Amino acid sequence: MAETKADTIFDVAIIGGGPAGYTAAIRAAEFGLKVALIEKTDKLGGTCLHVGCIPTKALLFNAEIWDHLQHAADFGIENIGAPTLNWAAVLKRKNAIITKHTKGLDFLMKKHKIARFEGFGCLTGPAQAGVHTVDVANSAGETSPVKAKNVILATGSEAKMLPGLAPDDRILTNIEILALEQVPKSLIVIGAGAVGMEFSSLFRTFGSEVTIVEFLPRVVPVEDEEVSKEVTRLFKKRGIDVNTGARVEKVEKTENGVRVTYTDANGKTQVKEAEKVLVAVGRAGRTANIGVEKTKIEQERGLIKVNEAQETAEPGVFAIGDIVFGLPQLAHVGAMAGMVAAAKIAGKTFRPIRRDRIPGCTYTEPQIGSVGLTEAQAREKGYDVKVGKFPFAGNSKATILGSHDGFVKIVSDAKYGEILGVHILGPQATELVAEAVAVLELEGTVEEMMYTIHAHPTLAESLLDAYGAVEGMAINA
Ligand SMILES: Cc1cc2nc3c(=O)[nH]c(=O)nc-3n(C[C@H](O)[C@H](O)[C@H](O)COP(=O)(O)OP(=O)(O)OC[C@H]3O[C@@H](n4cnc5c(N)ncnc54)[C@H](O)[C@@H]3O)c2cc1C
Repeated sequence: MAETKADTIFDVAIIGGGPAGYTAAIRAAEFGLKVALIEKTDKLGGTCLHVGCIPTKALLFNAEIWDHLQHAADFGIENIGAPTLNWAAVLKRKNAIITKHTKGLDFLMKKHKIARFEGFGCLTGPAQAGVHTVDVANSAGETSPVKAKNVILATGSEAKMLPGLAPDDRILTNIEILALEQVPKSLIVIGAGAVGMEFSSLFRTFGSEVTIVEFLPRVVPVEDEEVSKEVTRLFKKRGIDVNTGARVEKVEKTENGVRVTYTDANGKTQVKEAEKVLVAVGRAGRTANIGVEKTKIEQERGLIKVNEAQETAEPGVFAIGDIVFGLPQLAHVGAMAGMVAAAKIAGKTFRPIRRDRIPGCTYTEPQIGSVGLTEAQAREKGYDVKVGKFPFAGNSKATILGSHDGFVKIVSDAKYGEILGVHILGPQATELVAEAVAVLELEGTVEEMMYTIHAHPTLAESLLDAYGAVEGMAINA
């Protein structure tokens, strides 16, 4: 009799089909393992593809085009009339991008002969005779077991809400805001991490009055302090009302919108009203009801602890992506964690994820791309820090693009010249950072990079000048 899915013992069963889970599935299949992928929805791609990275970047690209059109005359392009925004068409394009890539994932699963199970996966406990069981409940509530020698938990995360609030048509998370029928006239954004900053930038470009309320003393708090300071200045210049060190006291609905009461950095009570409020105060790991409590898995702040091979404390159970404690909640981190876990399960060599080699990208206008230690972190670690900074104002390609805001900052160790961190605020920063990631991965020095030829005219030359600036020898500034 042919083997059925029910009696197959897979090498690995993965719970969650986001970027962490589907990457792990593909890599495990590439290693020749028999793979099951369990996803509770009928679509692969997770937050990233459906309500995160991809739709936001699609809309931010629309915003970039819109911005260029507003300044067309600066480029000698005249008589284009008054451009109007067809928001429905903007959303349609975004949705088409999502659909295309969702289908792409379906194709990849078939190509790699990955067995897909639609339903909510829950680990039943430790392995019995080396085999784990994951109960998969479908939408009708029927449960069927999937058996595997290893299990990877990749259930992702969801937006945290402020106490007492629930998302609706005015109180928004990343999900509701991506489906708004119109650009709101006014928007209050609570939280100035990457998500809050990107939506602020996006809707400001499309004409919304935007107010940011951030609890911490600075926006994009994981970035180098100089980046936070300059992006704040630039956001304010764009007319965004940026409030840091501000604690939200109350969010209420008014007749037509919302009212947010907060205590500002000087301890004064402030009240702001707007059409909508976006709550972007971080993301909670989806660790509930997936069977974690029946195992030895250790958690911290609702996230799962793993070792450098992504193994949890329960033998044969791995965790990757946004549910992992101690790593940034980013798609590329989850995907790499998936590749690490797959390699470990397949008995192959791998390189553990290094916290200080993870690029962070914020697709605001201007963009932020960074990797490695900030200046403050490098000093805290006891390095004799040497910094180089080069403004995009001195870069000819930036002039061609009409995009002069921002800078490249290099943080290096004076002793050996090793580059410890690169912080870019400016045009295409999210692409430029790729060079910096490679430099850090290869333990490049300032001298090596000062003599690495960068094509002309490119934005990347600003990195060359910034390496030179560490030695006080930038050419173009
Ligand atoms: C607005 C926004 C913008 C972002 N932009 C970026 C960006 O530009 N770059 C970047 O790197 N990151 C970005 N992120 C973060 C990125 O989306 C996440 O880091 C990434 O999606 C995490 O991947 P994951 O696979 O761990 O989880 P998810 O993408 O959340 O996927 C988890 C999957 O598991 C499924 N699932 C959950 N529980 C179960 C269960 N019990 N059984 C079966 N299936 C289950 C879910 O349905 C989902 O499909 C953004 C996030 C947001 C909210």
